[in-house]
Amino acid sequence: MNAALLWLRQDLRLADNPALTAAIKTGLPVVPVYVWDVPGEGAWPLGAADRVWLHDSLTALSGDLQTLHSRLILRRGDSLGELVQLAQQTGATQIHCNARYEPDAMRQQDAVRSALATQGIELVIHKGGTLIWEPDSLQTGSGNPYQVYTPFFKRCLDNLPAIHPLSAPSHLSSPAQWPDSLTVADLALLPNIPWDKEMRAFWQPGERQAQALLQSFIADKQDGYGTQRDIPAVDGTSRLSAYLKHGEISPRQIWQAVADTERASGKHFLREIAWREFAYHVLFHFPHTPQQPLKPKFNELPWTLDETLFSAWCKGETGYPIVDAGMRQLWHLGWMHNRVRMIVGSFLTKDLMISWYDGARWFWDTLVDADLAQNSLNWQWVGGCGADAQPFFRIFNPITQSQKFDPDGTYIRRWVPELAKLSAKYIHAPWDAPPLTLLDAGVQLGKTYPHPIVDHAEARNKALALYKGMGQPVS
Ligand SMILES: Cc1cc2nc3c(=O)[nH]c(=O)nc-3n(C[C@H](O)[C@H](O)[C@H](O)COP(=O)(O)OP(=O)(O)OC[C@H]3O[C@@H](n4cnc5c(N)ncnc54)[C@H](O)[C@@H]3O)c2cc1C
Repeated sequence: MNAALLWLRQDLRLADNPALTAAIKTGLPVVPVYVWDVPGEGAWPLGAADRVWLHDSLTALSGDLQTLHSRLILRRGDSLGELVQLAQQTGATQIHCNARYEPDAMRQQDAVRSALATQGIELVIHKGGTLIWEPDSLQTGSGNPYQVYTPFFKRCLDNLPAIHPLSAPSHLSSPAQWPDSLTVADLALLPNIPWDKEMRAFWQPGERQAQALLQSFIADKQDGYGTQRDIPAVDGTSRLSAYLKHGEISPRQIWQAVADTERASGKHFLREIAWREFAYHVLFHFPHTPQQPLKPKFNELPWTLDETLFSAWCKGETGYPIVDAGMRQLWHLGWMHNRVRMIVGSFLTKDLMISWYDGARWFWDTLVDADLAQNSLNWQWVGGCGADAQPFFRIFNPITQSQKFDPDGTYIRRWVPELAKLSAKYIHAPWDAPPLTLLDAGVQLGKTYPHPIVDHAEARNKALALYKGMGQPVS
């Protein structure tokens, strides 16, 4: 028997999959493989919400492969060991995969490539399936990596490659005998206590749904994206992030579909797609940033992990309705609106003086779109310590942000139902409501809904003083 192995990782799709296309081009039977290798992921193994997503995503891919009379071979354990064994069982001398760019994933793919080579097996790592612009292909005029988004984006547009996403195969040739496989359930990705019911009812992972979401975004949301994307009560964004994370859709597919509309509104959205590329550019060139701030000065800031405050933030019990709404949306759906991610991030790092890193870890475990590049960049953005970051002294006021972006309180009412009966006037800051108004709305502060865990004005002054103590200007 002789076959080409396809090592799938964060590229769980059939269309625009350069590694799959290359495996097919060998003319050999193709054996698609996914190895669940927790230690292989290094310091950031998939979080709990992402594992649930992965379960449903592997199920969807397995079904799609079956319609092509193919299979998804599932293994559990050390990636190298499983690949070597599969190569021996199928007689494969070539394994194809798509490049990954997270530091541990890069280390792993390089180590696997070297070790396979000693056994006469070639690991072919394909580019173009994960990112549009290779992180080492763009540099500033002085030859350095970019740390500011606007010139990065300009350079991207000046160097826009021809984008022709690859088609999905209509047929996959199978080996005469399939190697053994586990089932998706054998990977034990789902939690023992079923906290994931609402999340799983909300999302439908898989390539088909990713394409459906992209088409509905283009038809119904693209033209309003510029104004609606900041309003958390409105379903105004693409909701494609988790599909991108797991590779159920490629950035090239999105770019081409939106650019092909030739509508001016597409530019705003493609700018966000390029933010994803920027995040990978920064991670590639500064691989320490998931752990350490890009601006080392921020190591001096006395961020402290107060467990009581942190737990209130995680549970959505801070007493600040917009913060609590966001944290509960995250807990229920594994996803939070971008505007609210910024508000809860600012609140954690500046009002509670808890490190961006602790926030990033919590998001890592609870997001279905947890992506090392984007999570690190964005947490350092809110914490003021990363590339093109919001200056530390710009501290979001959770009340005015709430009044501005959720003016009638619809988002808060959805996620903090105990405040649902408060009017728009008081829902953003219930402690300002007269006692009778609270009584009428069934709100008892300290009983049905918490008092604010910190005073924002005081917390802000304290944060600014600490920042000044680092010798930094506060305006
Ligand atoms: C503290 C914090 C942590 C974040 N962590 C993650 C994360 O782990 N994974 C993740 O995918 N996004 C993360 N984001 C970015 C952003 O919130 C999400 O990408 C977005 O909310 C996903 O929803 P959407 O697909 O509907 O976005 P859309 O508005 O439809 O955007 C389309 C795509 O553009 C990209 N994009 C949008 N906004 C950003 C951004 N600010 N930075 C980088 N790329 C962006 C994403 O790939 C997104 O799917 C984080 C933001 C913050 C403030």
